[in-house]
Amino acid sequence: MADVIIIGAGYAGMSAAALLAHAGRKVVVLEASGMIGGRAQSYRDEQGYTREYGAHSHRLAHKGIANEVFKRLGEEIDFLPETKDAKLIFKGRLWERPEGPMGFLRTPMLSFRARLVLLALLARIKKADPAAWYDKTLLDFYKTSFQHPEVEAFLPFLGMTIMCPDSDKVSAGEVIDFLQRALAADVGVGEPRGGSARIFLTLSKHIEQEGQIHLHEKAEEIIIENGRVTGVKTSKATIHAPDIIFAARLPLVLELIDNSLLPAAMIDYAKNIENSSSLVIDFITGKPITSICSGILGVDIPIWARFQSNADSSFTPSGKYMSTWGIMLPWHFDGDEKIVLEAETKLKNTIATVFPDFLKRVIEERKIIVPVMNGNVLTPAHSKPHRPDTQCSLIQGLYFIGDTVRGDGCSGDISFSSAMKAVDKILGAQIK
Ligand SMILES: Cc1cc2nc3c(=O)[nH]c(=O)nc-3n(C[C@H](O)[C@H](O)[C@H](O)COP(=O)(O)OP(=O)(O)OC[C@H]3O[C@@H](n4cnc5c(N)ncnc54)[C@H](O)[C@@H]3O)c2cc1C
Repeated sequence: MADVIIIGAGYAGMSAAALLAHAGRKVVVLEASGMIGGRAQSYRDEQGYTREYGAHSHRLAHKGIANEVFKRLGEEIDFLPETKDAKLIFKGRLWERPEGPMGFLRTPMLSFRARLVLLALLARIKKADPAAWYDKTLLDFYKTSFQHPEVEAFLPFLGMTIMCPDSDKVSAGEVIDFLQRALAADVGVGEPRGGSARIFLTLSKHIEQEGQIHLHEKAEEIIIENGRVTGVKTSKATIHAPDIIFAARLPLVLELIDNSLLPAAMIDYAKNIENSSSLVIDFITGKPITSICSGILGVDIPIWARFQSNADSSFTPSGKYMSTWGIMLPWHFDGDEKIVLEAETKLKNTIATVFPDFLKRVIEERKIIVPVMNGNVLTPAHSKPHRPDTQCSLIQGLYFIGDTVRGDGCSGDISFSSAMKAVDKILGAQIK
């Protein structure tokens, strides 16, 4: 018997379990795979390379949502010092990423007139109410006051900050909400020293004080009696608990519960989450390619990159250098090899344009396709007000967390934030 069973050991499940264990609750974390981390997996391989499932950063660094979880645990994420040398790829060139209004006013990426329009757009974003714009796209928002082809071509950069570059698809409310928080915080992204592996190590340490993590143990059924949860049947046993947190992508919960017991709107939502996938390649070189330490984002091509070993030499064995590049695959990608090849060619052509000698120096590359970039792509239909709540309205003791439910922020932040919300509800309701 546990106090709380948590299904899934990604950012969300591990955060919730650590917070509950910190509050003295006996937790059991069930993880179907052999490794914690989910879509943010990170580990050191036998050759001494830190392998990340796509190079994870934390928006707003020490002022961000991931660090809020750590603060509640009495910890701080150990972020690498901010290097402020982030870059953008635009029109086949590498540019300094503009920082703040002065940066946008001075950037040579755009004509002077376009810079003024962009600044006016940013000023409007700063004042806008996100709640009024969740159901509209960024392009809708832009078009209500502006019309300038250069600025319109630059809009994907604003969407890319929340990993949804299509301005006619991304929710304006989500972009506004994130940019307002970023402007107020006045910090960029934070890279955790040692990668996500360190994040998970700290969370595991807290969990293990009061609970257990069961790897290779898949939840197969959530047991419900008289309208409330009583336990979970797994691939190995039946475990009982009065509270259960489902911490994997929402569509997967439909396999574990008699669907007639779940709210119809939630089922509908889970079935209609749009997939977004990407191709991610780790490149290893025997010589440094550049001294850039911060990230690189594409403006007119949905690319992102990081030269991890420049910022954190612990990522590679001595004398080796690693960078990770990702390119988004078209929406609804279904595994077609031809599409992967096209994306790889586009990515490598871009790399060859901005770093001409790079690919000749590569001594090893690891290629992975990552399905569902951010379980929840932040379109108007999947924006915060429409995502299901963290507490099930029909089944007592059942909670949902992760980046497909209603947390704050975007990408992994939604997982960290929804974990805190569910934990607050459980601790508020439980009398110990
Ligand atoms: C390439 C890439 C780069 C990214 N970069 C960033 C970034 O820089 N910053 C950022 O904030 N976000 C980033 N994201 C998004 C981020 O990875 C996700 O938002 C986050 O990892 C989701 O965590 P989660 O805990 O909600 O879900 P998941 O990580 O999906 O965890 C769910 C876990 O549940 C397990 N599970 C599923 N079913 C069962 C079952 N029946 N029984 C037991 N276990 C089960 C799964 O194996 C998995 O481990 C990136 C994503 C990708 C793919």
